[in-house]
Amino acid sequence: MADKRLWTQMDLGFTSNPKVQEVLAESAGAVVLYIHSVLTSCLHVTDGFAKEKVMVRASFASQADADLLASAGMWHRPGHDCNTCPAAVPIGEVYIHDFEEHNPMWTTRAAETRIEKATKAARARWAADSKPEDATEHATEHAASIGQASGEQCSEDAPAMPEKRREEKKIFSSSSTTAFDAFWAGYPRKVGKAAAQKAFAKALKFTDVETVMSGVEALRTEVAGKDQKFTPHAATWLNEGRWDDEPSGQLQIPVNSPWDPSFHRMQVEA
Ligand SMILES: [Zn+2]
Repeated sequence: MADKRLWTQMDLGFTSNPKVQEVLAESAGAVVLYIHSVLTSCLHVTDGFAKEKVMVRASFASQADADLLASAGMWHRPGHDCNTCPAAVPIGEVYIHDFEEHNPMWTTRAAETRIEKATKAARARWAADSKPEDATEHATEHAASIGQASGEQCSEDAPAMPEKRREEKKIFSSSSTTAFDAFWAGYPRKVGKAAAQKAFAKALKFTDVETVMSGVEALRTEVAGKDQKFTPHAATWLNEGRWDDEPSGQLQIPVNSPWDPSFHRMQVEA
């Protein structure tokens, strides 16, 4: 199975950077604090903002470490004077200097584009899989239109479609289709919808709709004909990242690490 851990990039000269060297000389813990803030901001897609006290606690740093980052200009507190970073920093938070420039794949905009692309691709694939031979264009157009306008009504189901396919297509084209509705329609145990919706939004930060839906398909196959109590609640299934489960049921939890092998592959290819 492909390594699906999440990663961001790190400049190979990071620890030799004069600004970082100055901080290192004072406290290695401050550098760990800085790295933790970058990774956390990527993971939770906060666009470079981080809650200072939470960061300090989670990386076992000290308030002096936080002050060090602020005076070195690696973190900006409210009222900072860096003119290349967002001016408004909420009280209690810091902005990581040049976050967007260094972590372009972890901005809200980039995450939304990825989700949108994955949703469209998944819908187009489902529509293409389920279309009758003579309705190619309609299916493609339809996939494109539901990708852009959620809530659009689709009343036509192709007459020649086999029953199972028709059911699958409905998942992606019913009147108020959103990616979550599609997920919920396909998930084999309908318990805890609100929690599932939250977990679903969170899961899409780690993976795409298509992968989750393939996972749901695999789960449906696995639990078919078994007592419902063997099917996890949807929120649990999502929070544990089980869309990646091997058929054997091996659990995969995404780990955010710049030392992820795919990070190094990317650097070599770039
Ligand atoms: Zn800045």
